[in-house]
Amino acid sequence: MSLSITGVGMTSQRARDRLVNILRENNIKNEAVLSAVASVPRHLFVDEALASRAYENISLPIGHGQTISQPYMVARMTEVLLEGENVKRVLEVGTGSGYQTAILSKLVFSVFSVERIKPLLENARDKFRQLKLNNILTRYSDGGWGWPEKALYDAIIVTAAPETLPTSLLEQLVDGGKLIIPIGKKGEQELFLFQRLGDKFHKKVLEKVSFVPLLKGRTE
Ligand code: SAH
Repeated sequence: MSLSITGVGMTSQRARDRLVNILRENNIKNEAVLSAVASVPRHLFVDEALASRAYENISLPIGHGQTISQPYMVARMTEVLLEGENVKRVLEVGTGSGYQTAILSKLVFSVFSVERIKPLLENARDKFRQLKLNNILTRYSDGGWGWPEKALYDAIIVTAAPETLPTSLLEQLVDGGKLIIPIGKKGEQELFLFQRLGDKFHKKVLEKVSFVPLLKGRTE
């Protein structure tokens, strides 16, 4: 059985609108981001058994020891990414469920997304097809190196935390481009924003966060 795209009851449009209100209360202000959250059916990106909890502001397990990010965190990172500059090409490291990818696809021209766990990526690709999100290109690989063949990017968003900054990602940014990335060991991570200014990078700490670790290599 597959779940309906629009949803009913706990997965209905009303549930998505309630989530939007929670995000507003948590200081998410970008209206385009809020309408993307109102339109993307998050219940499709979690296991059917968890669908009724899909519109709570929480992260949920998606198998393989990974989680779908908390809606607040998805909205916050997307809001920061869209600020100021005209953002057209975005690289996401860590496709996971594909929910963040789907939100981005509604807001920018093209999304490139890299995932190291094959079944997660295959599952996410199915959802993109089902939802007719045609501006997403995915790759099965270790995204710690970025996706150099498709660079440069206006923004890069990393949804798993390395202990130190992977500098190859910085090289894949256009001038003025942004990298949004959680860095640090479990229990002591912070979300960073790096912005490229010529050969220099401006660094800003945004907030304390909790992400799964960025791992090396691929798994079948
Ligand atoms: N944005 C996703 C977050 C999933 S959790 C969502 O909301 O569903 C982070 C994801 O990053 C996991 O799927 C994990 O497998 C992936 N990941 C971890 N290290 C990676 C790496 N080096 N390259 C690509 N993906 C990686």
